[in-house]
Amino acid sequence: MKVPFLDLKKANEEVSCEINQAIAKVVASGWYILGQNNRDFEKQFANYLTNNEGFVIGCNSGTDALILSLLGVGVGPGDEVITVSHTAIPTVSAIVAVGATPVFVDIDSDTWVMDISKVTEKISMKTKAIIPVHLYGNMVDIFKLQELLSDLKRMDISIIEDVAQANGARLHGQQAGTIGRFGAFSFYPSKNIGALGDGGAVFCRKSEDYERIKMLRNYGEKDRYNAVLPKGINSRLDEFQAAILTEKIRFLDDWIQRKEKMVRKYKEGLADLPIVFQKVTDGVTPAWHLCVIAVEDKQIRDELMKYLEKQGIQTLIHYPIPNHLQKAFLQSRPVHLPITEQLTGRILSLPMNTAISEDEIQIVIKAIHDFFQ
Ligand SMILES: *Cc1c(COP(=O)(O)O)cnc(C)c1O
Repeated sequence: MKVPFLDLKKANEEVSCEINQAIAKVVASGWYILGQNNRDFEKQFANYLTNNEGFVIGCNSGTDALILSLLGVGVGPGDEVITVSHTAIPTVSAIVAVGATPVFVDIDSDTWVMDISKVTEKISMKTKAIIPVHLYGNMVDIFKLQELLSDLKRMDISIIEDVAQANGARLHGQQAGTIGRFGAFSFYPSKNIGALGDGGAVFCRKSEDYERIKMLRNYGEKDRYNAVLPKGINSRLDEFQAAILTEKIRFLDDWIQRKEKMVRKYKEGLADLPIVFQKVTDGVTPAWHLCVIAVEDKQIRDELMKYLEKQGIQTLIHYPIPNHLQKAFLQSRPVHLPITEQLTGRILSLPMNTAISEDEIQIVIKAIHDFFQ
């Protein structure tokens, strides 16, 4: 493969000293779950996000961070949760996992994230929460969403930000995941801060929410052998991942800046072609998790993908089937989401990460030009 989509080994080489020290420290400590490394991580990450004006709870994955947040709100069977269909599957499986019904809203045709103007028509008496997804590193304007709920006198609806793809993004200077009631982070290896395994975290500001999530992630126990919440699960961040992630936080802003430069190279290099990029939401400084382009139609997209593959360039589609059309989530009353359905056929994610060189980006740009010639 000339240009792989993401070479994780190469990406982690940059911090291999820090990673190896972190692992050795945990091995020697003799304590492997919910210990000092988890506490250090939670503090450091809360410090990074808000200068400690809030709480981080480490957990096992981004999916679990969403499930814990939903349980924290008290979402269960009979409740509805509004989200987008154009997102990773776990956004939706988390809603289904707690017994609630996902209600899909379409995306904006330019920013490719939740179209806030279409949320009102989806709200019902059963709506308990909204999960806006900060897709590809761009953000939903959470302040606008809060304003809408306030205008509708529905402040009882909780906002849970899916920050899995936008760790480090900012909206009017405020970190993604710190504006709604809960922020659900993922440290899946390919995310902006990646663990060497699974990892996730919940952010919240209220101490009651913090106490609840802490119990929910650990069997519902208040203290040892004393269960007070019935729906507790086992979702803890292990000490190895916590120690590695603590080291990586320091690099996040630098990694985002480097990726921003790469996206700029792509935008400049492809400006003369019939290709569009995701429009950044007003007021947002994105986290540049993925570099996604859209071409005119599905036929061109599929041919372009095949052509690049033949040149040794690996691309991916995020995501090939929208969630409302997934077998697992089909509903008795079918939903039609024209913008989502149309975009799904046009998108292609280009190789873009901290392990990629400028030469590799030029190879991709040249290959795309050759295809359109
Ligand atoms: C990755 C991802 C998740 C799930 O994270 P895991 O850590 O893999 O469970 C949830 N939502 C979105 C948008 C994601 O990209």
